[in-house]
Parts: sequence; C-alpha cells; structure tokens
Amino acid sequence: MAVFDHAEFDNHESLHYFYDEPTGLKAIVAVHSTAFGPAAGGTRRWNYSSDADALTDVLRLSRGMSYKNAVAGLKFGGGKAVILGSDATPKSPELFRAFGRCVGSLGGKYVTAEDVGCSTDDMRYVREETRFVSGLPQSEGDAGGDPSPWTALGCFEGIEAAARARLGADSLKGLRVAIQGVGHVGLNLCRLLHEAGAKLVIADVNRDNLQMTTDELPATVVDPSELLFADVDVLAPCALGNILTSTTIPKVKAKIVAGAANNQLSTPADGVRLAERDILYAPDYVINAGGIISVAAEYYGEGSEKDVRDDVGCIKDRLQGIFKEAKESGRPTHELADELARKLVATAR
Ligand code: NAD
Repeated sequence: MAVFDHAEFDNHESLHYFYDEPTGLKAIVAVHSTAFGPAAGGTRRWNYSSDADALTDVLRLSRGMSYKNAVAGLKFGGGKAVILGSDATPKSPELFRAFGRCVGSLGGKYVTAEDVGCSTDDMRYVREETRFVSGLPQSEGDAGGDPSPWTALGCFEGIEAAARARLGADSLKGLRVAIQGVGHVGLNLCRLLHEAGAKLVIADVNRDNLQMTTDELPATVVDPSELLFADVDVLAPCALGNILTSTTIPKVKAKIVAGAANNQLSTPADGVRLAERDILYAPDYVINAGGIISVAAEYYGEGSEKDVRDDVGCIKDRLQGIFKEAKESGRPTHELADELARKLVATAR
C-alpha cells in the first residue's frame, strides 16, 4: 500500500497505525498539520471494503480538517482517525478505551472527537484513557458537547446564504431541500429547515434514522439511489463523501449544493463541473465547521455556548465572501476556498 506516493498524501506530517489484540481494534490516525496547534478531527468508525480504502479516507479527511480549522481561524491543525469497523469488532466500551490509549500515546499531537459511526457516549470511554478528546457532554451554558447541532446550524445558515446568492431568496420558505442522510447532523438540519418553512425530501440507508425523522417532521422519503437527483432547489449532503462525480453531477437538478458531509467532491474537477452547470457549491469544510468550533471551545475551555453561537454565525459570512468572489472572478467556489486554506496552512508551517 503506497503511502508517500499515495495520491492523497499531500505532505502529511505523520501517519499512525494501531492494532489492539484483546479488542481487535484496528485504527489509523493521520496528522496532516500541527502548524496551528494539535491536529484535531473526529474519529470515523466504518466498515471499509479494504485497508487501502480506509487509508485513502483518513488522508482525505485529515487534510480537509487542516483546511477547515485554518479557514475557521481555530488554534487547531488538522488530523483524523478511522476505526476499521467489522462484525468481528463491534462497538464496545473496551474498544473505545483501547482507542483512547492509542490517541494518548501520541502525546497530544492529535485531538479526537466523534464523527460518523461514533457518539458522545463512545467519547466518554476514550476520555477514560486520554485527555486529548473533546465533544463530551457539558453542563448547561458551557461550550462543547455533541458537535452535530452546531454543524447543522452552520449548514442551515450557509444554505440561507447560498439561497440569497444563487436564487435571490430572502428566506427558505417554500424551497425544496433534499437531505442525504438523517443522522446526527441531518436530523438537526431537517428541524431547522422545517422551522424555516422549507419542504424536506430525505433518504437514508438506515431505516431507524429515517423513521425517527418522519415521526417528527413532514418529509417526502425517496430511495437513497434517487436522492442526489431529486427535483429540489437545494441538495444538502449529510452522509458520506465522494458523491459528486462526473457521473452524478450531470443529473443533479438542484441549483445549490450545501451540506455537512466531508469530501463531497470526488475530485477537484467535480467542483469545476458544478460551476459549469451553474450549481452553487458551498465548500464542505467551510460550511460544516460548526462542530469543530464547538469542539475547540470545549477543548481549550475558552468561551461560553454564546461565544460558540457567535463564531458559528461567522460561517455564513465566510461563505458570502466566497460566493461574491466566485461571481466576480468567474472561478469555482472550491478553488477559492482551497487557495485560501492552502495559503493559511503554508504560511503557518
Ligand atoms: P451520522 O453517522 O450520524 O449520520 C450519517 C447518516 O448518513 C446515517 O444515518 C447513515 O445511515 C446515512 N447514510 C450513509 N450512507 C448513506 C447513503 N448512501 N444514502 C443516504 N444515507 C446514507 O453522521 P453525522 O455526524 O451526521 O455526519 C454526517 C456527515 O457530516 C459526515 O460526512 C461527517 O463527516 C460530516 N460532518 C459531521 C460533523 C458533526 O458534527 N457530526 C461535523 C462536520 C462534518
């Protein structure tokens, strides 16, 4: 398995492979950059089809965290962890304690939190073994806890900004929004969109999550294979990455793509494809920074819930700036965001 020659290597500072025999834990931690502070990014537990897929995922996610943290102005570098899930190694307190020891062994170079396949409860077990973890339950009014409602809020306000820029809409009332994945972020986003009068179209491969959403909110459910191509104004990807490709983009009907999922573009060329179709793309690591803003406030013990709210409010302003520049320069939004992020990381290095 190529590492230094890997297409996604992108000057990672270090890469750490862990195996714990008693629990069967297999994990990879990627540290893209510590230039702005400890490399921070959540832990994804996923049933990868191969170790190579897990490596590609962790490298792409880790670089994305570097960019996200830099653009959000946080005292965090970028990193990410993946736990290779399988039926042989189900989630358990012991598995997460073992993972906590792995994180601890890095001595604070990497700070973790929850991502897809992990919860605040799992992070409590990680916390039993290491202090380099955030996203734990907090007391009322304190910053931190489950980051996903903050991610959803940043996305919601980012969608409002995109609707203003692309559709000239002052509100989301009556707009149709397709949400791919109604997990931690997707469900919270659905709540905000519904409150704002948007019409929801949803899909999820997890029936329980789908049921929970339709029990609470009016939504049209479509098959997961159709969601990306639904006849809507906004597409909000809130599941996994690599969904916008040369095959899917020509069939997208939405005028805006703005959601929480990391690495939505399969390749940078897909950002160009969206722009060529006049689909306004909110760069994923800009719009989905709400969670890590909360994680940072919790980790450093700085600021209150209100401060986090204010900082999450800056996401829409950042997006507005990118949308405006894209319009004026005719350049795709992902290019402008990448350029800014790379410059920030390179200067700090
Ligand atoms: P989650 O695991 O709680 O939810 C993801 C949902 O997507 C699940 O319900 C899953 O069944 C569903 N899903 C998976 N594949 C699907 C498919 N093909 N079609 C439809 N549904 C599918 O994860 P989450 O925490 O809500 O995160 C969602 C996305 O947002 C991820 O890409 C994550 O990396 C990103 N993100 C999350 C946060 C956060 O605060 N949780 C922050 C930034 C970015």
